[in-house]
Amino acid sequence: MLHIIVDVFICLLIADFVSGLGHWAEDTWGAPGRSPLLDKWVILPNIEHHRRPGQMRNKSYWETNHVTVILALVVLGGLLAFHVNAWQAYLTVALISQSNQIHKWAHSQTVPFWVRWLQRIGLLQSVAHHGEHHKRPYAYRFCTTTNLLNPVLDGTGFWHGLEWVIERCGISVKRATEARGGY
Ligand SMILES: [Zn+2]
Ligand SMILES: [Zn+2]
Repeated sequence: MLHIIVDVFICLLIADFVSGLGHWAEDTWGAPGRSPLLDKWVILPNIEHHRRPGQMRNKSYWETNHVTVILALVVLGGLLAFHVNAWQAYLTVALISQSNQIHKWAHSQTVPFWVRWLQRIGLLQSVAHHGEHHKRPYAYRFCTTTNLLNPVLDGTGFWHGLEWVIERCGISVKRATEARGGY
C-alpha cells in the first residue's frame, strides 16, 4: 500500500514539474504573432491571465482545460500505441491534463471541500501560494499543481540556472512578455 501512495505522490510531483516547465516556457517566450493557432490557444490566454488573473474564474471547465486535455489525449494515444502498461504513466498524464483546473482553483475562493483540504495540506496549490506568482518580477512559482516543488525550484535558482544554460546554447531568454512584467 505504501508504495502505491509513494508512486501517486511522485506522479503528482512530476505533473507539478511539467506544469511549471510549460508555464515557465509560456511566460518566457510567449510573445504573440508567430502562429495564429498558438496565439489563440496558448499565447493570448496566457497574457490575458496575467493581466486579469481573476477572469479565469468565469471560464467553463472546457474553456479552462481544453488545451491540456487534448494534448493529454494525444499522449495517452501514444502510450497505448506503445503498449505502456505502467499505471503511473497514465495517472501522470491525467494529472497534467487537469493542471489548469487546479490552477483555476488557486484563483477561486469557493471550491469543493476536498479541494480546499488538499490545498491546505499543499498537495494542491493554494490561493496564497499561487498569488506570489502574480506579483513582480513574475519570475517565481511557475509550478501550478502543488505547493511542494516551487520552494525547491525557486530556492535553488532552478529557473535562473535553466535560463543561464539555454543562453549559453545561443537561445535568447530576454524576450520577457507582458506575462513577466512587460517588454
Ligand atoms: Zn505566469
Ligand atoms: Zn494564475
